[in-house]
Amino acid sequence: IKGLFERFKKGLARTAQLFNFRTWFGRKVDQSFLDDLEARLIQADVGVAATTRIIDRVREAFADKTADENLVNFVKGELKGLLEDTTPGVLATAAKKPTVYLIAGVNGSGKTTSIAKLAQRLKDQGNTLVLAACDTFRAAAADQLEIWAKRAGTELVRGASGADPASVAHDACQRAVARGIDILIVDTAGRLHTQTHLMRELEKIRNVIQRLIPGSPHEVLLVLDGTNGQNAIRQAEVFTKSIGCTGVILTKLDGTAKGGVAVAVRQSMKLPIKFIGVGEGIEDLQPFDADTFVESLFE
Ligand code: GDP
Repeated sequence: IKGLFERFKKGLARTAQLFNFRTWFGRKVDQSFLDDLEARLIQADVGVAATTRIIDRVREAFADKTADENLVNFVKGELKGLLEDTTPGVLATAAKKPTVYLIAGVNGSGKTTSIAKLAQRLKDQGNTLVLAACDTFRAAAADQLEIWAKRAGTELVRGASGADPASVAHDACQRAVARGIDILIVDTAGRLHTQTHLMRELEKIRNVIQRLIPGSPHEVLLVLDGTNGQNAIRQAEVFTKSIGCTGVILTKLDGTAKGGVAVAVRQSMKLPIKFIGVGEGIEDLQPFDADTFVESLFE
Protein backbone atom coordinates (compact mmCIF):
# COMPACT_ATOMS: atom_id res chain seq x y z
CA ILE A 1 0.00 0.00 0.00
CA LYS A 2 2.79 2.38 0.88
CA GLY A 3 4.48 1.69 -2.46
CA LEU A 4 1.27 2.41 -4.27
CA PHE A 5 0.77 5.61 -2.40
CA GLU A 6 4.30 6.73 -3.23
CA ARG A 7 3.77 6.09 -6.92
CA PHE A 8 0.53 7.94 -6.92
CA LYS A 9 2.12 10.79 -5.05
CA LYS A 10 4.96 10.98 -7.55
CA GLY A 11 2.42 11.13 -10.35
CA LEU A 12 0.71 14.04 -8.71
CA ALA A 13 3.90 15.89 -7.84
CA ARG A 14 3.10 18.51 -10.45
CA THR A 15 -0.18 19.27 -8.76
CA ALA A 16 1.61 19.47 -5.43
CA GLN A 17 3.93 22.06 -7.00
CA LEU A 18 0.93 24.11 -8.10
CA PHE A 19 -0.57 23.78 -4.64
CA ASN A 20 2.60 24.75 -2.81
CA PHE A 21 1.26 28.01 -1.42
CA ARG A 22 3.98 28.41 1.17
CA THR A 23 5.77 31.03 -0.88
CA TRP A 24 2.57 33.07 -0.70
CA PHE A 25 2.42 33.12 3.08
CA GLY A 26 2.41 36.72 4.33
CA ARG A 27 0.71 38.02 1.19
CA LYS A 28 -2.52 39.94 1.57
CA VAL A 29 -5.59 38.08 0.27
CA ASP A 30 -6.66 40.74 -2.26
CA GLN A 31 -7.87 40.52 -5.85
CA SER A 32 -4.41 39.88 -7.21
CA PHE A 33 -3.93 37.03 -4.72
CA LEU A 34 -7.30 35.53 -5.67
CA ASP A 35 -6.39 35.80 -9.36
CA ASP A 36 -3.18 33.88 -8.71
CA LEU A 37 -5.03 31.23 -6.71
CA GLU A 38 -7.62 30.92 -9.47
CA ALA A 39 -4.91 30.40 -12.09
CA ARG A 40 -3.32 27.63 -10.02
CA LEU A 41 -6.63 25.81 -9.53
CA ILE A 42 -7.41 26.00 -13.23
CA GLN A 43 -3.93 24.76 -14.13
CA ALA A 44 -4.50 21.82 -11.78
CA ASP A 45 -7.60 20.85 -13.85
CA VAL A 46 -10.05 21.62 -11.04
CA GLY A 47 -12.42 23.07 -13.66
CA VAL A 48 -14.08 26.46 -13.91
CA ALA A 49 -17.20 25.76 -11.84
CA ALA A 50 -15.38 24.30 -8.84
CA THR A 51 -12.62 26.91 -9.06
CA THR A 52 -15.13 29.78 -9.03
CA ARG A 53 -16.80 28.29 -6.00
CA ILE A 54 -13.52 27.88 -4.12
CA ILE A 55 -12.41 31.43 -4.97
CA ASP A 56 -15.73 32.87 -3.75
CA ARG A 57 -15.44 30.95 -0.49
CA VAL A 58 -11.82 32.02 0.05
CA ARG A 59 -12.77 35.65 -0.67
CA GLU A 60 -15.56 35.46 1.91
CA ALA A 61 -13.42 33.87 4.59
CA PHE A 62 -10.07 35.61 4.05
CA ALA A 63 -10.74 39.05 2.53
CA ASP A 64 -7.95 41.40 3.63
CA LYS A 65 -6.41 38.78 5.88
CA THR A 66 -2.91 37.48 5.39
CA ALA A 67 -2.30 34.15 3.68
CA ASP A 68 -1.04 31.49 6.08
CA GLU A 69 -1.46 27.82 6.97
CA ASN A 70 -5.15 28.46 7.71
CA LEU A 71 -5.74 29.38 4.12
CA VAL A 72 -4.09 26.17 2.90
CA ASN A 73 -6.24 24.14 5.26
CA PHE A 74 -9.30 26.04 4.10
CA VAL A 75 -8.58 25.22 0.44
CA LYS A 76 -7.96 21.57 1.36
CA GLY A 77 -11.31 21.53 3.18
CA GLU A 78 -13.07 22.98 0.16
CA LEU A 79 -11.53 20.39 -2.17
CA LYS A 80 -12.47 17.58 0.21
CA GLY A 81 -16.01 18.99 0.42
CA LEU A 82 -16.29 19.00 -3.35
CA LEU A 83 -15.11 15.37 -3.52
CA GLU A 84 -16.93 13.94 -0.55
CA ASP A 85 -19.88 11.56 -0.19
CA THR A 86 -18.20 8.77 -2.05
CA THR A 87 -17.97 5.43 -0.33
CA PRO A 88 -14.36 4.60 -1.08
CA GLY A 89 -14.07 1.62 -3.36
CA VAL A 90 -17.50 0.28 -2.41
CA LEU A 91 -19.57 -1.03 -5.28
CA ALA A 92 -23.26 -1.89 -5.19
CA THR A 93 -24.02 -5.60 -4.99
CA ALA A 94 -27.07 -7.63 -5.92
CA ALA A 95 -29.34 -9.17 -3.30
CA LYS A 96 -29.48 -12.24 -5.53
CA LYS A 97 -26.45 -13.37 -7.56
CA PRO A 98 -25.01 -12.38 -9.95
CA THR A 99 -23.99 -8.79 -9.42
CA VAL A 100 -23.33 -7.15 -12.79
CA TYR A 101 -20.88 -4.35 -13.51
CA LEU A 102 -20.98 -2.74 -16.93
CA ILE A 103 -17.76 -0.96 -17.86
CA ALA A 104 -17.61 1.82 -20.45
CA GLY A 105 -15.00 4.26 -21.71
CA VAL A 106 -13.22 5.32 -24.87
CA ASN A 107 -10.37 3.24 -26.27
CA GLY A 108 -7.08 4.02 -24.65
CA SER A 109 -8.63 5.20 -21.38
CA GLY A 110 -7.36 2.10 -19.59
CA LYS A 111 -10.62 0.17 -19.67
CA THR A 112 -9.18 -3.30 -20.31
CA THR A 113 -6.47 -2.84 -17.69
CA SER A 114 -8.97 -1.48 -15.15
CA ILE A 115 -11.30 -4.45 -15.69
CA ALA A 116 -8.38 -6.81 -15.09
CA LYS A 117 -7.42 -4.95 -11.92
CA LEU A 118 -11.01 -4.89 -10.69
CA ALA A 119 -11.48 -8.59 -11.47
CA GLN A 120 -8.33 -9.45 -9.53
CA ARG A 121 -9.45 -7.34 -6.59
CA LEU A 122 -12.92 -8.90 -6.47
CA LYS A 123 -11.44 -12.38 -6.88
CA ASP A 124 -9.04 -11.73 -4.00
CA GLN A 125 -12.07 -10.79 -1.92
CA GLY A 126 -13.41 -14.30 -2.46
CA ASN A 127 -15.83 -13.79 -5.34
CA THR A 128 -16.30 -16.00 -8.38
CA LEU A 129 -16.35 -14.04 -11.63
CA VAL A 130 -17.23 -14.16 -15.28
CA LEU A 131 -15.84 -11.54 -17.65
CA ALA A 132 -17.66 -10.72 -20.86
CA ALA A 133 -15.61 -9.30 -23.73
CA CYS A 134 -18.27 -7.36 -25.60
CA ASP A 135 -15.80 -5.31 -27.63
CA THR A 136 -15.95 -7.79 -30.48
CA PHE A 137 -14.43 -5.35 -32.98
CA ARG A 138 -11.16 -5.06 -31.18
CA ALA A 139 -9.78 -8.59 -31.05
CA ALA A 140 -6.64 -7.32 -29.33
CA ALA A 141 -8.70 -6.06 -26.38
CA ALA A 142 -10.41 -9.44 -25.97
CA ASP A 143 -7.03 -11.19 -26.26
CA GLN A 144 -5.62 -8.93 -23.59
CA LEU A 145 -8.62 -9.56 -21.38
CA GLU A 146 -8.20 -13.29 -21.91
CA ILE A 147 -4.60 -13.12 -20.71
CA TRP A 148 -5.65 -11.18 -17.61
CA ALA A 149 -8.61 -13.52 -17.02
CA LYS A 150 -6.36 -16.59 -17.19
CA ARG A 151 -3.91 -15.01 -14.82
CA ALA A 152 -6.67 -14.16 -12.36
CA GLY A 153 -8.21 -17.61 -12.83
CA THR A 154 -11.56 -16.28 -13.97
CA GLU A 155 -13.76 -17.28 -16.85
CA LEU A 156 -14.05 -15.18 -20.02
CA VAL A 157 -16.93 -15.19 -22.47
CA ARG A 158 -16.05 -13.83 -25.90
CA GLY A 159 -17.58 -13.95 -29.35
CA ALA A 160 -16.10 -14.41 -32.79
CA SER A 161 -14.52 -11.30 -34.25
CA GLY A 162 -17.30 -8.93 -35.32
CA ALA A 163 -19.99 -10.91 -33.46
CA ASP A 164 -22.97 -9.02 -32.05
CA PRO A 165 -21.79 -7.60 -28.70
CA ALA A 166 -25.28 -7.97 -27.25
CA SER A 167 -25.22 -11.70 -27.98
CA VAL A 168 -21.92 -12.02 -26.10
CA ALA A 169 -23.54 -10.19 -23.17
CA HIS A 170 -26.49 -12.56 -23.46
CA ASP A 171 -24.26 -15.66 -23.31
CA ALA A 172 -22.27 -14.25 -20.42
CA CYS A 173 -25.42 -13.50 -18.40
CA GLN A 174 -26.77 -16.98 -18.99
CA ARG A 175 -23.49 -18.56 -17.99
CA ALA A 176 -23.20 -16.44 -14.84
CA VAL A 177 -26.74 -17.35 -13.78
CA ALA A 178 -26.41 -21.03 -14.66
CA ARG A 179 -23.18 -21.41 -12.70
CA GLY A 180 -24.21 -19.33 -9.71
CA ILE A 181 -21.33 -16.90 -10.27
CA ASP A 182 -21.03 -13.95 -7.87
CA ILE A 183 -20.01 -11.18 -10.25
CA LEU A 184 -20.24 -10.59 -13.98
CA ILE A 185 -18.06 -7.82 -15.43
CA VAL A 186 -19.02 -6.68 -18.91
CA ASP A 187 -16.45 -4.93 -21.09
CA THR A 188 -17.78 -2.76 -23.91
CA ALA A 189 -16.45 -1.09 -27.04
CA GLY A 190 -15.08 2.43 -26.91
CA ARG A 191 -14.74 4.04 -30.30
CA LEU A 192 -15.87 7.62 -30.16
CA HIS A 193 -15.70 8.39 -33.88
CA THR A 194 -18.90 6.44 -34.41
CA GLN A 195 -20.59 7.96 -31.41
CA THR A 196 -24.23 7.35 -32.25
CA HIS A 197 -23.55 3.77 -33.22
CA LEU A 198 -21.48 3.21 -30.12
CA MET A 199 -24.12 4.62 -27.79
CA ARG A 200 -26.82 2.54 -29.45
CA GLU A 201 -24.67 -0.56 -29.01
CA LEU A 202 -24.11 0.21 -25.33
CA GLU A 203 -27.82 0.70 -24.79
CA LYS A 204 -28.51 -2.63 -26.49
CA ILE A 205 -26.03 -4.43 -24.23
CA ARG A 206 -27.55 -2.73 -21.23
CA ASN A 207 -31.05 -3.79 -22.25
CA VAL A 208 -30.01 -7.42 -22.70
CA ILE A 209 -28.39 -7.49 -19.27
CA GLN A 210 -31.42 -5.84 -17.68
CA ARG A 211 -33.75 -8.33 -19.27
CA LEU A 212 -31.77 -11.43 -18.28
CA ILE A 213 -30.76 -10.26 -14.82
CA PRO A 214 -33.50 -8.03 -13.42
CA GLY A 215 -32.24 -5.11 -11.36
CA SER A 216 -28.88 -5.13 -13.13
CA PRO A 217 -26.46 -3.65 -14.05
CA HIS A 218 -25.72 -2.81 -10.42
CA GLU A 219 -23.00 -0.37 -11.43
CA VAL A 220 -22.16 1.27 -14.74
CA LEU A 221 -18.56 2.35 -14.33
CA LEU A 222 -17.00 4.85 -16.66
CA VAL A 223 -13.25 4.59 -17.15
CA LEU A 224 -11.68 8.01 -17.69
CA ASP A 225 -8.06 8.81 -18.46
CA GLY A 226 -6.95 11.32 -15.83
CA THR A 227 -4.35 12.77 -18.20
CA ASN A 228 -7.16 13.91 -20.50
CA GLY A 229 -8.17 16.73 -18.19
CA GLN A 230 -11.26 18.60 -19.32
CA ASN A 231 -11.58 16.29 -22.31
CA ALA A 232 -12.40 13.49 -19.89
CA ILE A 233 -15.36 15.53 -18.67
CA ARG A 234 -16.77 15.85 -22.17
CA GLN A 235 -16.48 12.08 -22.65
CA ALA A 236 -18.20 11.51 -19.34
CA GLU A 237 -21.11 13.70 -20.42
CA VAL A 238 -21.64 11.70 -23.61
CA PHE A 239 -21.59 8.34 -21.84
CA THR A 240 -23.70 9.46 -18.92
CA LYS A 241 -26.42 10.83 -21.18
CA SER A 242 -26.58 7.57 -23.05
CA ILE A 243 -26.21 4.80 -20.48
CA GLY A 244 -26.46 6.52 -17.10
CA CYS A 245 -23.14 5.87 -15.37
CA THR A 246 -23.06 5.31 -11.61
CA GLY A 247 -19.37 5.88 -10.95
CA VAL A 248 -15.93 6.56 -12.36
CA ILE A 249 -12.61 4.77 -12.46
CA LEU A 250 -10.04 7.52 -12.99
CA THR A 251 -6.85 6.09 -14.51
CA LYS A 252 -3.21 7.07 -15.02
CA LEU A 253 -2.94 9.25 -11.95
CA ASP A 254 0.65 8.02 -11.64
CA GLY A 255 1.47 9.76 -14.92
CA THR A 256 1.17 13.36 -16.01
CA ALA A 257 -2.42 13.75 -14.77
CA LYS A 258 -3.22 16.75 -12.64
CA GLY A 259 -5.12 15.86 -9.53
CA GLY A 260 -7.77 18.53 -9.89
CA VAL A 261 -9.37 16.43 -12.62
CA ALA A 262 -10.99 14.33 -9.89
CA VAL A 263 -12.76 17.43 -8.55
CA ALA A 264 -13.87 18.47 -12.03
CA VAL A 265 -15.28 15.00 -12.77
CA ARG A 266 -17.05 14.82 -9.44
CA GLN A 267 -18.50 18.31 -9.78
CA SER A 268 -19.57 18.40 -13.38
CA MET A 269 -20.89 14.85 -13.58
CA LYS A 270 -22.03 14.39 -9.97
CA LEU A 271 -20.53 10.94 -10.30
CA PRO A 272 -18.59 9.38 -7.44
CA ILE A 273 -15.04 8.33 -8.17
CA LYS A 274 -14.88 4.70 -7.09
CA PHE A 275 -11.30 3.77 -7.92
CA ILE A 276 -8.15 5.37 -9.24
CA GLY A 277 -5.56 3.72 -11.47
CA VAL A 278 -2.00 4.32 -10.38
CA GLY A 279 0.04 2.11 -12.71
CA GLU A 280 0.00 -0.58 -15.35
CA GLY A 281 0.23 -3.57 -13.00
CA ILE A 282 -2.66 -5.76 -11.87
CA GLU A 283 -2.45 -4.43 -8.31
CA ASP A 284 -2.40 -0.75 -9.28
CA LEU A 285 -6.00 0.08 -8.48
CA GLN A 286 -6.87 2.00 -5.35
CA PRO A 287 -10.21 2.76 -3.74
CA PHE A 288 -10.72 6.49 -3.98
CA ASP A 289 -10.68 8.27 -0.66
CA ALA A 290 -11.23 12.04 -0.79
CA ASP A 291 -9.22 12.84 2.36
CA THR A 292 -6.13 10.88 1.38
CA PHE A 293 -6.39 12.10 -2.16
CA VAL A 294 -6.57 15.80 -1.30
CA GLU A 295 -3.78 15.51 1.28
CA SER A 296 -1.56 13.95 -1.36
CA LEU A 297 -2.13 16.93 -3.67
CA PHE A 298 -0.28 19.10 -1.18
CA GLU A 299 3.39 18.74 -0.33
P1 GDP B 1 -8.36 0.52 -23.28
O1 GDP B 1 -8.11 0.78 -24.73
O2 GDP B 1 -9.24 1.56 -22.69
O3 GDP B 1 -8.86 -0.85 -23.00
O4 GDP B 1 -6.97 0.75 -22.56
P2 GDP B 1 -5.89 -0.29 -22.01
O5 GDP B 1 -6.39 -0.93 -20.78
O6 GDP B 1 -5.41 -1.14 -23.10
O7 GDP B 1 -4.78 0.76 -21.57
C1 GDP B 1 -4.14 1.64 -22.46
C2 GDP B 1 -2.74 1.88 -21.97
O8 GDP B 1 -2.78 2.60 -20.74
C3 GDP B 1 -1.97 0.60 -21.68
O9 GDP B 1 -0.63 0.77 -22.07
C4 GDP B 1 -2.06 0.46 -20.16
O10 GDP B 1 -0.99 -0.24 -19.61
C5 GDP B 1 -2.06 1.91 -19.73
N1 GDP B 1 -2.72 2.13 -18.44
C6 GDP B 1 -3.95 1.76 -18.05
N2 GDP B 1 -4.22 2.18 -16.78
C7 GDP B 1 -3.10 2.83 -16.36
C8 GDP B 1 -2.73 3.51 -15.14
O11 GDP B 1 -3.48 3.63 -14.16
N3 GDP B 1 -1.47 4.05 -15.11
C9 GDP B 1 -0.62 3.97 -16.17
N4 GDP B 1 0.58 4.54 -16.04
N5 GDP B 1 -0.94 3.37 -17.31
C10 GDP B 1 -2.16 2.79 -17.42
